[in-house]
Amino acid sequence: MTDMGSRSSNIVFLVGFIVYVTIRGVFERRARIKEKMVRRLDAVEKTLLIFVGVGSLLLPVLYLFTPLLAFADYRLPVFAPWLGTALMIAALWLFYRSHADLGKNWSVTLELHKGHQLIRRGIYRSIRHPMYMSILLWGLSQGLLLRNWLAGWSALATFSVLYAVRTPREERMMIEFFGEEYLNYMRQTGRIFPRIVGK
Ligand code: SAH
Repeated sequence: MTDMGSRSSNIVFLVGFIVYVTIRGVFERRARIKEKMVRRLDAVEKTLLIFVGVGSLLLPVLYLFTPLLAFADYRLPVFAPWLGTALMIAALWLFYRSHADLGKNWSVTLELHKGHQLIRRGIYRSIRHPMYMSILLWGLSQGLLLRNWLAGWSALATFSVLYAVRTPREERMMIEFFGEEYLNYMRQTGRIFPRIVGK
C-alpha cells in the first residue's frame, strides 16, 4: 500500500470537512422555519456544544493552519489514512441520509416543534441515532487522517461525551412527547447499530 503522505491526508480531511459543513448548511436552512414547543438548550447542552466545537473545528483548524499543535504530531501506520478515507465516505453518506430522512424534524439541540413527526422510515427504521453514529464515524476518520494525536482524536473524544450525555436526555424527551409510540419504536430499533434480535 502506498503512503498517502500527510499533505494528501490533510487535503482529504479538508475536502470531507467542506462536504460535511455543506450538508449541514443546506438542511439547516430547510429546517429553520418552525414554531418550537420544547427547547432544552440548558447549561449542559451549551457546554457540550462548545466542547464539540473545540474538538471538531478549532483544534483541526489550528493543526492545519498554524504550528501551535506541532508538539502533538505523531506517525500513523500507512493503512490509517486509507481506512480514514473509507470511513469518511461512509460517515458523510450516513450524515446526508439522516438529514434527508429527518427533514424538518432536525435541530442542533434538543427541540420539538409544532407538528413534530416521529420519523421511523429510511435509515431511522432500524437505528434511532444514525446522525450521531455518522458523527462518531466522522470522528474516527478524523483520527485516522490527521497525524496529530490532539487534533486527530479530539472530535471523537468530545462527541463521545455529547453522545453519552445527550442520548438518554433526548430519548426521555421523545418518550415524554410521543409516549407509547416512541417506546414501541425503541423496542424495534438499536441506538446506533441496527437491532437484529427481536425484530
Ligand atoms: N438523535 C437523532 C437525531 C439528531 S437531531 C440521530 O442521531 O439521528 C436532534 C433532534 O432530532 C432532537 O431534538 C429530536 O427532536 C429530533 N429527533 C430525534 N429522533 C427523531 C425521530 N425518530 N423522529 C423525529 N425527530 C427526531
